[in-house]
Amino acid sequence: MIELQTTTPHTSPQDAPVPLCVPELSGNEWLYVKECLDTGWVSSVGAFVERFERELATKIGCRYAVATSSGTAALHTSLVALGIEPDDEVLVSALTFVAPANAIRYVGAWPVFIDAERANWQMDPQKVADFLKRECRWTKGELRNKATGRRVRAIVPVHILGHPVDLAPILDLAQVYNLFVIEDASESLGAAYRGHSVGQLGHLACFSFNGNKLMTTGGGGMITTNSNTWAQLAKYYSTQAKDDPIEYVHRHIGFNYRLTNVQAAMGCAQLEQLDRFVARKRTIARRYADGLADVPGITPMPEADWAHSAYWLYTILIEPQQTGIDSRELRKALNQRGVQSRPLWCPMPMLPIYQGDRSVAYEVEVAPWIYARALSLPSSVGLTTEAQVRVIEALRKLCMN
Ligand SMILES: *Cc1c(COP(=O)(O)O)cnc(C)c1O
Repeated sequence: MIELQTTTPHTSPQDAPVPLCVPELSGNEWLYVKECLDTGWVSSVGAFVERFERELATKIGCRYAVATSSGTAALHTSLVALGIEPDDEVLVSALTFVAPANAIRYVGAWPVFIDAERANWQMDPQKVADFLKRECRWTKGELRNKATGRRVRAIVPVHILGHPVDLAPILDLAQVYNLFVIEDASESLGAAYRGHSVGQLGHLACFSFNGNKLMTTGGGGMITTNSNTWAQLAKYYSTQAKDDPIEYVHRHIGFNYRLTNVQAAMGCAQLEQLDRFVARKRTIARRYADGLADVPGITPMPEADWAHSAYWLYTILIEPQQTGIDSRELRKALNQRGVQSRPLWCPMPMLPIYQGDRSVAYEVEVAPWIYARALSLPSSVGLTTEAQVRVIEALRKLCMN
């Protein structure tokens, strides 16, 4: 989603640009990476890969974790492991970064875009229910989309911006309609749904450790699951599908989606700091909420009472009738004042690659409404109080005149 914003070092911190979201590498990263270089274990086999998998699984509360080279690779591998096939359909959030929709296309399946709900901006469980009930029917033991005739196989709820999707009704529907659930938790490591870590409740879940995410390995991903079968399949497909690792016999087409030991070393160091990172994000969120509470036309980032948000990227909605400036003009004006911000992602059904018969869009109305108004604000774990005060002051000045 957001490219890692690199900023040139400035001599006077008072007017250095405030970046949107940059990594925090203040723990054991150097130490562990040095250990890889000193011992020569730099590639895709090594103690840190296994340790990172084990420690992340423990953190999430899942039995298995399989490291991958990216979050996108984790999504692709998950769909392959579950046997999603060409011309199947997979329900996925309409308001998301594009990766999960693309991963569905990688296996030849088609995305069915489900709208966001207004309260928390996440996949709307009611619309999932409506789509399955009204638009699908059972034929010969298979669930098919009545309009396209295609088999409906899985749901990919994307926990966007650090906040969980309302999973319980979606898990219930998945059971009734015999669908797989793959959580895309790329943006929401550290978040919890009704006391459960995200990534614990779906059949499989995917995480990303790209540079802009809550914690980073430079690039990387992880699949978590409680199923030994799927964990083994995920490992198999992400490591070139070797049926005989000595003779190199292959029965399936696999992928080279392995994480290297050097990246995993960074991951272990980052994971040690995860709780502190989430605490920092929550402090940043509270400061924004307090600092902007009395600004008419600014809606703070929501947190449902059943959610513990990791507030990965603090995002507000701008109502231009009240602020006198819309989200796009505000982005430009903030940029002129040295404050980086970003709109959310163009909703999937509006993308050229997914228009017309290249996807199914089911009653997507709220996602474009949020998209028009949303602006993500500087949210780095290392954001100083002074820098955040500058952001808040700039917003107040621009929106209250
Ligand atoms: C970042 C992201 C991904 C994939 O991440 P990469 O590691 O960059 O491949 C997938 N889904 C969502 C929602 C994301 O934000």
